[in-house]
Amino acid sequence: MAEPQGGRFLVSEIYKTIQGESSLVGVPTVFVRLYSCNLRCVWCDSMHAVEGGEYQEVSVEDVVQRVLDLAGPSAGRHGVRNVCWTGGEPLLQWRSIGLAMERLPEDYVHSIETDGEVPLEPFSRAVAKKRERGLVRYIMDVKCPGSGMKAKLAFENLRHLRPEDEVKFVLLDRADYEFAREVVLGHEVPAGTILFSPATPAHKVEKGLDPAKLAAWILEDGLGVRLQLQVHKVIWPGVDRGI
Ligand code: SF4
Repeated sequence: MAEPQGGRFLVSEIYKTIQGESSLVGVPTVFVRLYSCNLRCVWCDSMHAVEGGEYQEVSVEDVVQRVLDLAGPSAGRHGVRNVCWTGGEPLLQWRSIGLAMERLPEDYVHSIETDGEVPLEPFSRAVAKKRERGLVRYIMDVKCPGSGMKAKLAFENLRHLRPEDEVKFVLLDRADYEFAREVVLGHEVPAGTILFSPATPAHKVEKGLDPAKLAAWILEDGLGVRLQLQVHKVIWPGVDRGI
């Protein structure tokens, strides 16, 4: 699907929730979930934002207003000022995201949850000033073999990350763990946080990875990575939208 032109978005859903992942876990956040994706991971838990045609075409102005309404009027130091751009793959619509960021309050912190297989550089250039101030942070996947996808562009993208960014590996089995360990140990990864997240049953996957197994592997190898569980699925078990 082509990127919508003229400052419009293809929106799957917009909502306020508790961030369930990354180092901002637990923090109230407005999520903008954009429609469609360049990949098809076997354990995808957001297929409604990938296939099926359930989306609305919305102007940048209307998305900005919806984010402001959800964040509420007291967005100050202790108000809601975190926005997570996710999908699907949000960077397929990076021009519109850049326009929206220009219209949102200066002190908002934006997280971009990207699959790693879209070039980061054009968007980073478009929001360079906010990147300099640490107000736009990437949570970038490197796809492991168990996803059914192949990490290619991710290796080039890794070089463009900065200390405020995070790299995420979703792991289905031991082979995925070994792949991720090799990437972490064998590549320059300038991101400050590395997340190892066990896959959970979703889409074509019936059995995920036992977090206790993953914990044991990490401790055995003495890897300085962060084991990440999806806290929103603990708070709202069985719910797959609006969380
Ligand atoms: S990249 Fe993300 S949204 Fe796209 S198919 Fe994979 S898990 Fe789903």
